[in-house]
Amino acid sequence: MTKLSLPAASALALTCAFASAQSAPPDTRYTPTPSFDLTSIDTSANPCTDFYKCACGHYAENHPIPSDQGSANGFSNLFNVNTQELRGILDTAAAGGAERSVSAQKIGDFYAACMNTEAIDKKGLAPLDPYLMEIDSMGLLQIPTVTGKLQRMGVNVLFSYGEQQDFKDASKQIATIDQGGLGMPEKDFYLRAGAKDIELRKDYVAYITKILALSGASPDEAAKQAAAIMDFETQLAKISMGVTERRDPEKTYHLVPIAEITKDFPMGTFGRFEDAVHSPHVTDINDANPPYIPALVRIVRDTPIETLRAYMRFHLISAESGNLPKAFDDANFDFYGHDLSGDTEKRARWKRCSNAVDGALGEVLGQVYVKQYFAGDSKANMLIMVGDIEHAMDQDIDSLDWMSPETKVRAKEKLHAVANKIGYPDHWRDYSALIVKPDDSVGNFIRATEFENDRELAKIGKPVDHGEWGMTPPTVNAYYNPSMNDINFPAGILQPNFYDPKADLAVNYGHIGAVIGHELTHGFDDEGKKFGPTGNLADWWTAEDTKKFEARTACLVNEYNQFVPVDDVHVNGQLTLGENTADNGGLLLAFMAYMTRAKQEHLDTQAKIDGYTGPQRFYIAFAQNWCSNDRPEALRTQTLTNEHSPDQFRANGPIVNQPGFAGAFSCPANSPMTPAKSCRVW
Ligand SMILES: [Zn+2]
Repeated sequence: MTKLSLPAASALALTCAFASAQSAPPDTRYTPTPSFDLTSIDTSANPCTDFYKCACGHYAENHPIPSDQGSANGFSNLFNVNTQELRGILDTAAAGGAERSVSAQKIGDFYAACMNTEAIDKKGLAPLDPYLMEIDSMGLLQIPTVTGKLQRMGVNVLFSYGEQQDFKDASKQIATIDQGGLGMPEKDFYLRAGAKDIELRKDYVAYITKILALSGASPDEAAKQAAAIMDFETQLAKISMGVTERRDPEKTYHLVPIAEITKDFPMGTFGRFEDAVHSPHVTDINDANPPYIPALVRIVRDTPIETLRAYMRFHLISAESGNLPKAFDDANFDFYGHDLSGDTEKRARWKRCSNAVDGALGEVLGQVYVKQYFAGDSKANMLIMVGDIEHAMDQDIDSLDWMSPETKVRAKEKLHAVANKIGYPDHWRDYSALIVKPDDSVGNFIRATEFENDRELAKIGKPVDHGEWGMTPPTVNAYYNPSMNDINFPAGILQPNFYDPKADLAVNYGHIGAVIGHELTHGFDDEGKKFGPTGNLADWWTAEDTKKFEARTACLVNEYNQFVPVDDVHVNGQLTLGENTADNGGLLLAFMAYMTRAKQEHLDTQAKIDGYTGPQRFYIAFAQNWCSNDRPEALRTQTLTNEHSPDQFRANGPIVNQPGFAGAFSCPANSPMTPAKSCRVW
C-alpha cells in the first residue's frame, strides 16, 4: 500500500506497497507500533472535519523521520522490526560453524560476505573485471550477447525481457519483451519541465560522471560520456510509455511471432540474446510496447559505440554498487537515497544485508522466519477473516443498484474463484544449485540474481504453478495477481500493528481487514475487471454496466485529482485509480465484515474501549494504517511515479465515501468528511 524500496513483485501483480526503510544507530531496537495507537490521536481535532488529523494528528511529532528513511509510518516501522528479526536469524546462521545445515550455510555466508566491507573494499572493482573487459571490447554485433548477460545478472539495459502468464490464456507462460534501460524512475523524469526536474537531471548526470570517474575515466572523459549517456537515455525515455498508460493491460499485450522482433535485430542476433540471458528460443512473444524495439534498434545504430560501452559500464557498476567499495556505494546513495528520496544517511549495513538475503534466498530465510514469527492460530484466524470479507463482497454485489443481474452473476463467479494464500507457500523453492561463498559478496549477488532469472525464464512453455508466491514470507506487503486471480498475504504483514491476536475485533478488521478488502477489490478495479475468473483477459461485463462502472470510477479520479500533497504537485487520479478503488472498496467490505462478525459473536459494538465504540475503533484503526511523516523529496517522487496515493489521502480519501462513517462519529450531513456528493464504485 505505500512505497517501500520494494522487493519487485511479479510484473503483473497489482501490489499494495508500503513503507520506506529505516535505520538509526545500529543498535536501535525497534518495537511494534501499538495496534490501537492512543498517542497518535489528536483529541482536539473534529473527526467530521479532518479524520486523518483526528486519528494521526500527533503521529509526526512523536515519530521524527529517521535519517535513512524518506518517511516514517507503520509500514516502515514493521519493516524495521521484521528486518531486526531477520538479522537475529542471520547472525546465528553466520556464526554456526561446520555443523550448520546446508540452508544455514547459504543464508549465513551470504549475510557474512555482504557485511564484510573490509574484504569488499580490498577487492575494488576486480570482481567485475571480466564483465567490464567484455563491455570495453563490444562492437555492434556483440550488443545482444552483452545485453543478455547483463540482464541475466539484474542490470537494466536497453530493454527488458522476462516471463509472464499469457494475458489471454492464463494457463500458458510466455516470453515478454518491453521497454527498459532507464536509470531514473520513469520517462517523465527526463522530459518534464520545471526547476525541480532540471535539478534532478543535473544530479543524475553528476552521479553518472562520478561512477565513470571512480571506475577509471579521466574527469573530462567521464563528464563527456555522462552527457552522452543522458542524451541516449532521454531518447529511450521518448519512445517509452508513461506510468499511467501502462496500467491498461490491453496496451501492454501484443502476442506476436518472434520473427516480428528478430527482424529488427541485426543479422539474426536475437538468438544470441536469448542464449546469453538463458531463455529458451521462443516462437511467440508478448511485444508489450510494439514501437519500442524498432525505435531502440535505430537509436542504437545511430549512437557511437563508445557511448554504448560507457552506458553498459555505468549501469553494471551502478547495479552492483552496494557490494563495491565505499566510494561507489556512497555515490549511489547520494543520488537514489538523498536526491530522489531526501534521506540524509545511508541505511545501516545490517539492514541492507538482511534484506539482500531475503531478496536472494527468500524462501530459505523465510522458512526459519515463519517458524519463529508466524506460529499458533495466526493462519487459521486469517482464513476466517478472509472468508468474512469475501462473504461481505458477495452481499455487496447483491446490493449494487447500478449493476445488471447478468454482470452480477459473472462478478460472483470471479469472486468465488479467488484463491487465498496466507503466510507462506505450501512448497518451498529448492536453492541447492545456488553456490554461496563466505568471501565473495559481488559473486553471491550475481549468482543469486542469475539463479532467479533462470528460474523465471525456465517457466516459459511450462504449466503454471498456482502455489507460487511473488513475495517472500517476511515481506510487509500484500498483492492481488489478476492472471492467477489470487490474493496473497505474506507472514511479514500479519504482525502487529496490522494483525494482532491480542487486539479487539474492531481494530483487527480496521487494520488487516481493510488490507484484505483492498486486495480483493483489486480483482474488480479498472484493471482487474478486465480479467475473468481463470485469469484470462476477457470482457465479462455488459457494455451498459461498463459505462456505469466508468462513471463511478471517474468520480474517484476527480476526487483524488484535487489532493495536493507537496508544493504544487497534485495526486494523479488516473494513475492511482486502481489503488483508490481498492482502498474505498476494501474499507467498505471490512466494515460490513466486522459488523457481521460482531453480531455472530454477540459483541456489543457500542461498548467502549479506551473511550471509543467498536465502529469508532474500526475507523481509527483503518486511518492509523496511514499515519505518516514524510520528507518532501520522498513525497514528490512517490506522487509522480507511484500508483498509490500519499498516505494522508489513503485515509481521508476513502473515509469521505463510507456510508458507515457518519453514524460512527455522529457527523452532521455536509461536513467535510460526510459530503452530500460522494463516490461509490463497490
Ligand atoms: Zn493495492
